[in-house]
Amino acid sequence: MMSNMISLPEQFKKRMERMLADEYDGFIESYDEPAVRSVRISMMRTRGKDIEKLASYITGMPAPEEVSWCPNAFYYTDDAAPGKLALHDAGVFYIQEASAMYPVTVLGIDGSGLKVLDLCAAPGGKTTQIADLMDSSGLLVANEIIPSRADILSENVERMGASNVLVVNEDPMALAKRFPAYFDRILVDAPCSGEGMFRKNPEAVNEWSPENVKMCAKRQKMLLTCASSMLAEGGRIVYCTCTFSPEEDEGAIESFLAENPGFALAGQHRLYPHTHRGEGHFAAVLCRASDLSSAAGCSGRASGPISDSARKKGGFSPKGGRKQFDDALLRSFLEDTLRPGSTVRQTIENCQERLISFGDSLYLAPAAMPDISGLKIKRAGLKLGTFKKNRFEPDHALSHVLGPDDVYNCIDLDPDGDEIRNYLSGLTISCSADIRGWCLIAAGSFGTGWGKASSSTVRNHYPAGIRRRAFR
Ligand code: SAM
Repeated sequence: MMSNMISLPEQFKKRMERMLADEYDGFIESYDEPAVRSVRISMMRTRGKDIEKLASYITGMPAPEEVSWCPNAFYYTDDAAPGKLALHDAGVFYIQEASAMYPVTVLGIDGSGLKVLDLCAAPGGKTTQIADLMDSSGLLVANEIIPSRADILSENVERMGASNVLVVNEDPMALAKRFPAYFDRILVDAPCSGEGMFRKNPEAVNEWSPENVKMCAKRQKMLLTCASSMLAEGGRIVYCTCTFSPEEDEGAIESFLAENPGFALAGQHRLYPHTHRGEGHFAAVLCRASDLSSAAGCSGRASGPISDSARKKGGFSPKGGRKQFDDALLRSFLEDTLRPGSTVRQTIENCQERLISFGDSLYLAPAAMPDISGLKIKRAGLKLGTFKKNRFEPDHALSHVLGPDDVYNCIDLDPDGDEIRNYLSGLTISCSADIRGWCLIAAGSFGTGWGKASSSTVRNHYPAGIRRRAFR
């Protein structure tokens, strides 16, 4: 038997040998290989673009290998540093481990207007993948229990230009009380013992113990129980982990099903690093037993009782509310900045009922908005901007759903040039003398932020918290 650089726990190795039998040597040998790296290019943001050209630019490879189970996803090697590219800040792609892309592909995001919950969502790899497939329709509730991680989730949702997402920072039990039988699709990407992280993050080995596996399994059962109470008729749950431990994978499913005979397993699958090009993941698809045996299978949709009652009550109304803002300031911003043909401008103008103000901030809520009063909300859809004295100032999030054709003024910068680096670092950039007022700053035609032009200079409105300190 060969040795490996990572010192794997003996108990883990013994268990894997029992599980894998003949395949065990191949599994252990995979730990001598470097961790697999991959990116997922946003379909929403790159519509009409040459994906192969973009993939080649991002990965630094002439013809990067595609991740076979996920569209628009490509492998790259250690020589590339996609996180340093301006297109990363523009939200053109997400650096996501290849096998972690698998669970969303079996979630069944197959119709418009779905109500989807991502129960354990930070930092947002799977949330942004789901949002991309939903293409801004319906409702995606992305929940994260840890506040600081919910902030990172919210930033990633914003960066990737996802506009139908409600970012929530709640205990899953609080959500279960609020949303009985409500969601058509639920992803439970449960916190786990992380055995699939050993190659990518060798410190995960030190955190591994049989006791931790047991503790995780108990928490996973609680999460599954919460999720099951929120599933609408005809809906689907995907439970997944990045661990190989049967106690947390098949065992968690078995123990849930034993106590919830109304549910059935539609399928489960494990990706190992020696069988699939990735670090490893487990995913199981659960449906209501009645749906599994019906003709609709797992793909039907249904509205839950909350959605109907919330609609009657007027839905979403926490501290903020509908239409408590100065229409004239918003109208003047739209007329000066966004072209009439812009989809975002048209949606704002035609769907006034979706405009929601929180204090001075204005959001475009997702099309299917539930009652979220009393919940801790980090983001309520697409943040459009803020009302300041006598003016409306666009939000950074808005820039990430726009392109050069949407606005009157766009400064489209070379994604490899000094000017975009200066802009992303917070510096002032120059422009032609005829540009005045709000302008979209784009990197290679992808909306990246805002600037305000006057007298041949553009004041930088790239948010201070995400500015680059050093560029390359
Ligand atoms: N889905 C994420 C992605 O694709 O980027 C990764 C999620 S990670 C595997 C699990 C998340 O669950 C962590 O962010 C963790 O903070 C959160 N978590 C921890 N304890 C939890 C609990 N009791 N209930 C819900 N989420 C919890």
